[in-house]
Amino acid sequence: MAVNGVSSDSSPFPVEHALLYELLVSELTDFVVVLLDPGGRFASWNPGVQKNLGYTAEEVIGQPSSILFTARDREAGIPEQEMQTARENGRATDIRWHLRRDGSLMFGEGVMVALRAPDGSLLGFSKVMRDVTARKQNEDRLEELTEALRQAQIIVRSPDGVIRFWGDGARRLYGFSEAEALGSTSWELLKTESPLTPEDLRRILATERTWHGEVRNCRRDGSRVIVRIDAVLRQVPSTGEQVIIEAATDISELKRAEESLLRSNEDLQHFVYAASHDLQEPLRMIRTYSELLSRRYGSKFDPDADLFVRRISEGANRMETLLRELLAWSQSSDGSEVPRQQVDMNEVLSAALSVLQHRVEETGATITSDRLPVVLGHAHSLAQVLQNLLLNGIKYGGDDPPRIHVSVRLEGEGFWQFSVHDNGVGFDPGDAEKIFRAFTRLHGAERQGTGIGLALCRKIVERHRGRIWAQSEPGRGSTFHFTLPAGSQ
Ligand code: ADP
Repeated sequence: MAVNGVSSDSSPFPVEHALLYELLVSELTDFVVVLLDPGGRFASWNPGVQKNLGYTAEEVIGQPSSILFTARDREAGIPEQEMQTARENGRATDIRWHLRRDGSLMFGEGVMVALRAPDGSLLGFSKVMRDVTARKQNEDRLEELTEALRQAQIIVRSPDGVIRFWGDGARRLYGFSEAEALGSTSWELLKTESPLTPEDLRRILATERTWHGEVRNCRRDGSRVIVRIDAVLRQVPSTGEQVIIEAATDISELKRAEESLLRSNEDLQHFVYAASHDLQEPLRMIRTYSELLSRRYGSKFDPDADLFVRRISEGANRMETLLRELLAWSQSSDGSEVPRQQVDMNEVLSAALSVLQHRVEETGATITSDRLPVVLGHAHSLAQVLQNLLLNGIKYGGDDPPRIHVSVRLEGEGFWQFSVHDNGVGFDPGDAEKIFRAFTRLHGAERQGTGIGLALCRKIVERHRGRIWAQSEPGRGSTFHFTLPAGSQ
């Protein structure tokens, strides 16, 4: 008879024992239970072989047990060594990777026992094994995580500050060894300067569970380090005690770079302000004296001299515009908060239009608008934005008279998106970003400008926490979009 593929004839046991054995092992589907003949070939099979290794009885019986070993183990003679150990010591335990039928790996934990007849002669081997791949993977993962934790700049401490875990990352960052750190109070060890007192932090963590912020800590050598802290409050499952896990990121370099950028920005702004302000005086002299010249001596000028003096005046006027815009630009970024008032954008548009009235009439431009909403901001600077965008729509017009439309739509998260669309010459989409840089001009001297208008618009919009960008194609008009925080209607 044959149960589960075991032929009674080939079994080394008396028939009735073999039957009992087969019934037993057929139930053990989570275990691989097999008999090997003295030469190490499979003499039996149980459903666990199929479930764990993928082999049917026909495929496995008569095959050498080495088919379950990885090529490396086979080359190293592990199958023979295992039988040798079982022969000599009665049993051999193993825990290693095994090969499934489909070539995948199974981490198995097993024991092989040498089976002997009463006279001591070797009948074969029994082998019982179980799949512990998941456990192995969990262990490996845990090991990786523990290592990552050790390497990360992580401190675990109790709510009263006593350091419980101090990995290599923390040692590298602060210079204190594990022995020095464990058991000491973190803010005493690191002389922490934080916007929060330890009690404040405890209170926040008790309600919020997390806290993110910047603190200044002291290294072992006394140097200061600015770190960003991400702290979470957790309960240790086994003991129920609460711990604070703090991950620290060294942002000292970033802070230094930020501060120096801020300083050089301030210097630059100061320089631009001083230069544009101080240049106004000599400019006024040029204008005054060229006017005086033409008034007093104009009648005596020949046509050339007349033209030259006129050119001096025009140059001076142009320079005055440039200095005025430069001043506006440098002052627009003095870092102060924009006063947040309710501003009706219809009124802002009217103000901008009245400044542009002359240009509109001169060019026959048509300017239309949706009904505009109320925003939060500063009316005068917002009028400057609309004025610049509308003036550009006129200045960079094509062959037809300029047609400009101001539209608006609600953007998510409490912002309005305004769009100023014109029918002008347009520009290459690849230039859409760079035209917002100061002094960047795409169109030549035939269209007057300083290249500051859009840079000023960007500063104003960003100070309102909005964004500004442009879309265009040569010959197909341009659209300038900007967003502003919505006010109450
Ligand atoms: P300016 O107009 O004084 O040159 P801006 O900063 O306002 O300075 O604009 C920068 C450049 O962007 C302009 O010189 C022009 O080449 C391009 N530009 C701006 N607005 C438009 C527009 N509506 N259509 C086409 N080009 C534009």
